[in-house]
Amino acid sequence: MLRFMHPIALLALLLPSGCKIGPQEIRDTRFMMGTIVRFTVIASDEVAARNAISRAAAAMRAVEDAFRNEGAPTNAVMRLNHAPPGTPVALPEMVSGLLRQALAIQHASGNAFHVGLGRLNALWGFSHDPPPTRPPAPERIAALVPPPRCFEATPSGWVRLDARCALDFGAIAKGYAVDRGLDALEAAGIHQGIINAGGDIGILGKHRDRPWRIGVRDPRRPGGVLAALDLTGRMAVVTSGDYERFYLHDGIRYHHILDPVSGMPARRSRSSTVVAPDAAAADGWSTALFVLGPPGLARIPGDWPAMVVDAGGRIHANDAMRRMMRTP
Ligand code: AMP
Ligand code: MG
Repeated sequence: MLRFMHPIALLALLLPSGCKIGPQEIRDTRFMMGTIVRFTVIASDEVAARNAISRAAAAMRAVEDAFRNEGAPTNAVMRLNHAPPGTPVALPEMVSGLLRQALAIQHASGNAFHVGLGRLNALWGFSHDPPPTRPPAPERIAALVPPPRCFEATPSGWVRLDARCALDFGAIAKGYAVDRGLDALEAAGIHQGIINAGGDIGILGKHRDRPWRIGVRDPRRPGGVLAALDLTGRMAVVTSGDYERFYLHDGIRYHHILDPVSGMPARRSRSSTVVAPDAAAADGWSTALFVLGPPGLARIPGDWPAMVVDAGGRIHANDAMRRMMRTP
């Protein structure tokens, strides 16, 4: 009988376990783009939040499929990469849009970022499974260093200008996917959340009533953090590092970020970080900055916070980053 029920039991009836009042933190993970993508959303309606995350993940997978440049040639990127030089290939709006953005970053970075080094990158094989254990022969590298200009838009499509050129969106597509994931979350009514695609991080709003706190990894201390960044609103933080995909051969570290001039892994940095409202731009520029090393800070557009850990482990940050950094 209800009137004999203990008050605590009654409370338990009213608040079934797991049901919390007010916004809660909902987390989910997916594996895509060769990495674990972690979603965190703050919302009152858990079902709606999980649906929003599924839509964001689907949008990100569509980006992954559109920009993939290895495997069976099922997309326009691979069609252009396999087309004879001089033959125009139509690219979907999404691909030509990101290609234009990539070419702008390539130009502004003096070719440190180079969207046409797909053949060189395939030779190094850092995206292959299993990964390689020794560098390719120098003459094979030299034969695939791309010329500065690789692609041109014509009225009938995009043209590959040289057989050494192949599209490689590896340095920018993950950021672009994070942008599309954030769009999908917002379209589903989510205003507070974070997408972490293995070093490419996009945020929305706040972490409850505080900024989102993002740690910048120490490139030589796994789990160690160099600096903490407090961010709110729609913003992205992207880090490129020589610890992501690498091997040691004869005591030398060979990693996946290539200097498009030498054709070798870039040697000026251990990691680079860029903060920008647009995750694709932050991604492209963090790769460019990695290749350029500390002098590249002067090329970062606007007043985007940026930092580089140089080859000796010293941290170089621009003014905007110095204002933003908190020591952990
Ligand atoms: P990220 O981790 O964003 O710095 O991108 C590295 C990936 O981008 C590599 O796995 C390659 O697919 C590609 N890549 C390597 N070096 C460059 C470069 N200098 N410019 C553009 N893309 C590059
Ligand atoms: Mg990048």
